[in-house]
Amino acid sequence: MSATNTEKHKQQSWLRRYWLVGLLVLLVLLAWWPGRSILLNVLTEREATRIEAITPATGAAETPRRIDAEQLMADLHWLADAERAGRAPGTDGSRQAREYIIERFAALGLAPAGSDGYEHSFSSERVESGVNVLGSIIGQDPSLRTIVVTAHYDHLGVRGDDIYYGSDDNASGTAALLAYAEYFTVNQPQHTLLFAALDGEEQGLAGAYALFKSGHLNPNDIAFNVNVDMLSRDTDQLLYAVGTYHHPWLAPLVRRVQQESGARIVMAHDRPKWRAGNTMDWTMSSDHGAFHVEGIPFMYFGVADHPDYHSPRDTSDKADEEFFRITTETALSFTKLIDQVLSEKRAR
Ligand SMILES: [Zn+2]
Repeated sequence: MSATNTEKHKQQSWLRRYWLVGLLVLLVLLAWWPGRSILLNVLTEREATRIEAITPATGAAETPRRIDAEQLMADLHWLADAERAGRAPGTDGSRQAREYIIERFAALGLAPAGSDGYEHSFSSERVESGVNVLGSIIGQDPSLRTIVVTAHYDHLGVRGDDIYYGSDDNASGTAALLAYAEYFTVNQPQHTLLFAALDGEEQGLAGAYALFKSGHLNPNDIAFNVNVDMLSRDTDQLLYAVGTYHHPWLAPLVRRVQQESGARIVMAHDRPKWRAGNTMDWTMSSDHGAFHVEGIPFMYFGVADHPDYHSPRDTSDKADEEFFRITTETALSFTKLIDQVLSEKRAR
């Protein structure tokens, strides 16, 4: 009995010493730059292995056909046309894009949900005059809070002699937003859906932050945010679903969506450095970030950065028509599912 105790005691003190040494090694690693980069490389590699393990080899054979794919492409081409000159906030191209979106919202019968009709004007440190476009579809259950669907319509505009067309980033998401507005006009959701085409995303999510800063939206009234940004091309047919790290309850929903998506959906790019090393964390990389800091759960769909990302080469002829149709349907599947799941949760 006493012998075992001594044995245990010995083990414990050894363990204590071991932990101390471990802690010292860790501190040295963190303080000493090459050591830190070794640590980050280990984490990066581990994350790459994790991503590889969860990446499906193929998507589903069939993706539902609910949206008008021809209209989707027409909207993409129109928004990314040279006439729009890259849709920088405050420019004529931006105004044209905004009027286009408003016209469609009005034709579909969306209720104006801005501060002045469909428009919600703002100015911030980096955006002198930005305008968000907001329209809503009233849900079947008025006791439910609002689901906000976002896509930024702005891009970088003209720099020097170059037009930054911003086709994938983010005429694609804006075109998808219009398709969703059309779909839910006919298929009434449970929650009220607020469709927000946001301005000033490229200036630090200015339009999204302005929704809350101005008091136009109250975070307590919002149940969820679905954000789409860059949907129209990927060599490997991969679509990232960002948000399950922060809200693990979303992972089974993404898996359900995968069953009817021809894209290969990967849940990644939402982990902090200490988990994923140098793997990019996109938690704050698009408008969903402004919802996240308000404590609102979100799901962001988007492709990986490609060589034409933020370059004058991001033009609409580069869109992969079938892949874009599939990713648009995929985010729609998720939006329908989150509308259903959150209303059932409420009913229980
Ligand atoms: Zn973008």
